[in-house]
Amino acid sequence: KTTLREHVETRTITVNFTSVPDERNYPIHIGNGVLSQSDLILSHLPKKRVAIVTNTIVAPLYLEKLSAMLEGQGVAPVPIILPDGEKYKNWETLNLIFDALLAQRCERSTPIVALGGGVVGDLTGFAAATYLRGVPFIQIPTTLLAQVDSSVGGKTGINHPLGKNMIGAFYQPRVVLADTATLDTLPERELRAGVAEIIKYGLIRDSIFLEWLEVNMAKLLARDATVLIEAVRRSCMHKAEIVEADERESGVRALLNLGHTFGHAIENAMGYGKWLHGEAVAAGTMLAAELSQRLHMMGKDDVERIRKLYLRAGLPTVAPNLGTKKYLHLMGLDKKVEGGKLRFVLLKRIGEAVVRSDVPAEMLARTLVECTH
Ligand code: NAD
Ligand code: MG
Repeated sequence: KTTLREHVETRTITVNFTSVPDERNYPIHIGNGVLSQSDLILSHLPKKRVAIVTNTIVAPLYLEKLSAMLEGQGVAPVPIILPDGEKYKNWETLNLIFDALLAQRCERSTPIVALGGGVVGDLTGFAAATYLRGVPFIQIPTTLLAQVDSSVGGKTGINHPLGKNMIGAFYQPRVVLADTATLDTLPERELRAGVAEIIKYGLIRDSIFLEWLEVNMAKLLARDATVLIEAVRRSCMHKAEIVEADERESGVRALLNLGHTFGHAIENAMGYGKWLHGEAVAAGTMLAAELSQRLHMMGKDDVERIRKLYLRAGLPTVAPNLGTKKYLHLMGLDKKVEGGKLRFVLLKRIGEAVVRSDVPAEMLARTLVECTH
């Protein structure tokens, strides 16, 4: 693979929880090649030692590069390589991280870097939150989904046999380095799944961004560096604004769940991994849009516009027909239906989402019958 890169400017977003200087505020640097840019990470590594958690897929691709850059600056990397996959986002794997940190005598001042996708990021963040009651944490997300979503906002954690993401902590990183060049090696399907979460930001709060995505979708899928950086930047800006306003999801952060209630039901029913999360979110968002249209919140033309964009992104737009009963059960709504009130993130229009808790059960059932296949 050629190492010649077109020069594109690095962009920086800041997550500000307070308006005064505070270590909880942090920058997100987005650029083509930021992984090898020592000035962006060095100020966060005062102790000349750093633990790097990654996995068996990402290590051969990027660990060497990151380690060489750090060693060149006199920082000793302590690599911790985990097995790959969502099924390893569990207590046993978390313990492997603790084992390595203790065996290598990592101290409270030794930062831990997550180098990988959302699975590595969530595991590593939780390890950083709890090892020695909390050590500095750095995110280097290498999937599109992790760059636009999971590496920003401070949700960390693992799965439990009885539920996904059930054990965890809110723990913010000190810095996020999103290197769009790492996306070159990402499988096509994973790239498209990340695009689903990018489209989500346009749908819930930025119609101009959605228009921009309509124009630039082909370039985004072709991994054009300038277009990728802008898509990640704009997505991180939205995620940052939302978590600044609502760090622990008691309000607006819920809007990020557009398409997710349906989406989780789809992922769960089809078996995790069969449908990628982003694919289920796309199909789930179509259900949310159809439901919004049936409640006269949004026009049919807007529903079709959303469908067209997903199709161009190569994402599914029709949710599987599981039957209304199964959907309600998987969405945890089977008991609430009797009370008549269901809470959903719906679309008022492209660029504006709302949480509605007055969705009539018949309307939901009709949507699930008419819009699944
Ligand atoms: P992932 O971490 O499993 O990565 C997908 C696949 O791509 C894996 O096989 C991975 O090893 C591989 N990979 C990673 N980087 C690569 C690269 N540059 N080149 C080639 N292959 C690469 O999945 P994901 O979609 O990144 O993240 C999903 C996880 O994120 C889920 O566990 C989900 O719960 C979590 N998540 C967390 C948050 C949050 O706020 N913390 C938000 C959304 C999702
Ligand atoms: Mg999601």
